[in-house]
Formats: sequence, structure tokens, C-alpha cells
Amino acid sequence: MSGRVYLVGAGPGDPGLLTARALELIAACDVIVYDRLIPDSALDGARADAELHNVGKEGGGPSKPQEEIERLLVERAGAGRTVVRLKGGDPFVFGRGGEEAETLRAAGIPFEVVPGVTAGVAAPAYAGIPVTHRDAASSVAFVTGHEDPAKPESALDWGALARFPGTLVVYMGVRQLGAISERLIEGGRDRDEPAAVIQRGTFPDQRAVGGTLETIAAVAARERVRAPAIAVFGAVAALRERLQWFERRPLAGITVAVTRARAQASGLAARLRELGATTVEAPAIRIVPVDGPAPDLGRYDLVCMTSPNGVRLLFERLAAAGLDARALAGARVAAIGPGTARALREQGVTADIVPERFVAEGLVEALAGVPVKRALIARAAEARDVLPDALRERGAEVDVVKLYETVAEPLSEAELAAARAADYVTFTSSSTVRFFLQSIDGELPPGVRLASIGPVTSESLRERGLEPDVEATRHDIDGLIDALVADAAQRAASR
Ligand code: SAH
Repeated sequence: MSGRVYLVGAGPGDPGLLTARALELIAACDVIVYDRLIPDSALDGARADAELHNVGKEGGGPSKPQEEIERLLVERAGAGRTVVRLKGGDPFVFGRGGEEAETLRAAGIPFEVVPGVTAGVAAPAYAGIPVTHRDAASSVAFVTGHEDPAKPESALDWGALARFPGTLVVYMGVRQLGAISERLIEGGRDRDEPAAVIQRGTFPDQRAVGGTLETIAAVAARERVRAPAIAVFGAVAALRERLQWFERRPLAGITVAVTRARAQASGLAARLRELGATTVEAPAIRIVPVDGPAPDLGRYDLVCMTSPNGVRLLFERLAAAGLDARALAGARVAAIGPGTARALREQGVTADIVPERFVAEGLVEALAGVPVKRALIARAAEARDVLPDALRERGAEVDVVKLYETVAEPLSEAELAAARAADYVTFTSSSTVRFFLQSIDGELPPGVRLASIGPVTSESLRERGLEPDVEATRHDIDGLIDALVADAAQRAASR
């Protein structure tokens, strides 16, 4: 029985531009043969037992010869496997997908093609350049700039392209940019025509530069524009000035390391990415539940919850005992901050008390006028005693139930290296400070900015001789993000 090959486009780099069909096939197939220029997370959904072949250039080394790639496709599909041949952008646009399809047809292997979002359209779009425009361009040509245009045997007729009445989008042309623009000017194209080059289009670190047909090569050289890049020649290139959006996002071009536990890091990281940041997940801590019985909540008139993890684990204990939110019916419920209050709401409980300042001291203040006889504080094993001490001082009987421990999560060399190269490292608790600094041996590169969620976390940094550069005024994740955005804006303005 013969397998099948899917020639699949992975889009230009932003994982959001992978098609639904591409994701479905990646998740289902036996074998994936992929190139270098695919989105970082493209293979995340692959089966754990899928066979992965990287046939792209690694670290400047040679890529696998085309015949070998084709032989691999024929051989794996011939053995009955379902093969995804994953390529950057669209498989049939300068992707040699056509040649692979021909080989497959000749070998009698069934194939399907899944088009992708091509870089020549997407990179300009993310730079604010529509490749066509009612007033500015009614046609667009996709051109490979791979060849040296000075070569007499060049397959491209640069004279004809110079006369082309529309936008020219040039792939693979960074190195030849000078020669290409000269040829186009020689061929009669207006030397003042707007031009732009977009490096790593749709990736978080996308960079675009603009100029004219005459100046663009010098501008790109000065700005050290590197491959992969797309060059755009035509009136539409000038629209970037007005329509730029991706590079204007508040955290564009900024790398932020997230040190909180893996289970929670992705939420914070996703929101930072929405704002344009490149994120590095370096989870320095892990939450380990402490086993124990469900507390008898009927005994208390006040139950204090100090973290979303605490809420989750308290409800797990209740559920294990056959109980639910009704166990809290008789008590006032206090949450230390909005994240904790949200976690409670997900369990069907609206917190009675949420302080203005999201630290233990804030909760103590908020409880000032609340009569308390018996309180339960559900929290981490190692936490400050501000809250129980304050309640006891007021004559309350206080029990503390320890729901989880925070332990160090060993970080890989790659995670550590990426975190060291970040512009910001975020700390969302004292334990992230302690364990992150432990895992990097206290060696933070001098330029990196430290962002702290609040005074307690900042104090933990100071105890280790580090001054936070950013401290959130609102001590929750939203507050931390706001503070980071404000700091980045201030720095950009002062540059
Ligand atoms: N099949 C791909 C093109 C492959 S050729 C597609 O449809 O997009 C490789 C060239 O594509 C690179 O040299 C570069 O010019 C361009 N390219 C690919 N990804 C890019 C990106 N994210 N930003 C800018 N150019 C890109």
C-alpha cells in the first residue's frame, strides 16, 4: 500500500498564519520533512512518535540536496507512510514544490498541495504595504532575486521587469539588492520610485526599512538588513509610512523572559506576544501540591485565598472529599488580588473582599472592619506570616492550610541562554526571584532590565543586591504588563 505526500505551506513565520489544514495534517501524519524557514512552533502539534526530518540549512551548513529530499519523500510514502513536506510560505512559490510534485507523480505516489501564506504578500502586509492598491498598483509581480542580475545568462529579463506596470516583489534578493536596483534603473524605472525591504516579516523581530529605488540598497546595507527579506518596489511601498502597524505595537522588537511556573507562564507570555514582544519561557519554579484532607470549612467565618494555585488546589481537595463550592457557604471569602478572585469565580464563588493593594498587607487593611473569630488561610507552604499574625493579634483563631510547595524547576542550557539575552526578565513572586537567580548562578548580563510585580518581589531582588528597574503599581499580571509597556515606551522616547 502506498502512502501519500502533502506538500504543505507553513506560512511566513507567524504561527497564527499556519492554515487550519496545515495544523490538522501536522497533527496526523507519520513523517514530517521540513525546511528551516518555518514558524518556531509549527511542529508543536506533531505526534510524539512522528518521524521528523530537518532538511533545511542549519547554522549556515549546507541544506540537503534536492534529489535526496525527493528520494526521502518517495521512499517514506512508498513504505506506506503519510508524509507532510512542510515548507516556508507557500510550497509552490519559489519553494521547489513543483519539482517535488513532478517527482511524486513520476513515482506514482499520490500527493496533495496545501497552499500557504506567501512571504511576498505577508511580509509587506505586516509592514503596512498592500501589494496592490486601487490608486497605486493594479498588478504585482513575484520575482526571484537569487540570481546575479549581472550574469549574461540570467533567466530574468530585468528590462521587462523595469517596464512592468505594477508592484515588484523580490524574494531572496538582499545580497543582490544593489545590482537589482541598478538594472531596474537602467531599464528605465523611476529612480525615485518608493522601495522597502522587510526582514523576517511576520516574526516578532520583523524589521522594515524604506527608501527609493536609488537609495534602498544603501539604506539596507547601513541598517544591516539580512536574509530572509522581501524587497518591494512600487508606489505602494510609500504607504508603509501611514499604514505601519506591526512594528508599532508597544513591545515590538523587545524580548521578555517569563520566569513563572510553566503552567502559568504561557498565559503571560501570550499576552506579551500580543503586544509585540518576543518571549522566552524560563520557568524557574514548579508548583507541587501538598497532599492533605479537605479542611472543614464550616468551622470558619473567614477564608482567605492568596493565589490562583491555592484556589485550584483547595477545590481539588474539596472535590476529592465529595464537596464543592457550597462548603464555603457559611464563611466570608477574601482574595488577595483579582487573579485569585477570578480563580474563585471560575469555581462559582464571588470573593467578598478584594483589597486595593494586592499584597498581604493590603488584605490586612481590607479586613480591618470585618469581624473575625476563626479564620482559615489557604496558601503556599512557604509564605510570609503577615496575614496570620495580624489576624491573631486581633484575637482571631487562625489556621493555615498549606496547599502547595514551590520548588526549583531546572532550566535547560537553551532556556538559560535565551533568558540571558532578553531585554527584560519578569518576576511574579519572591520564589521566581530566588530560583531563577539560583539557576543562572546570579549572573545577569548588565543590560537586562528586571521587572517586578510588587514590593515583596522587589525586596527579594534587593536582598540579592539587585535593584528592580520596573515595579508594577498594580500588583498583578495586568499591572506588570502595564508597567513594562510604560518602561519600554519611556526608553524608546529617550533614545
Ligand atoms: N515558499 C516561500 C519562499 C521561499 S524562498 C514563500 O512562499 O514565502 C525564500 C525566500 O523567501 C527568502 O530568501 C526571503 O526572500 C523570503 N522569505 C521567506 N520568509 C520570509 C519572511 N518571514 N520575511 C521576509 N522574507 C521571507
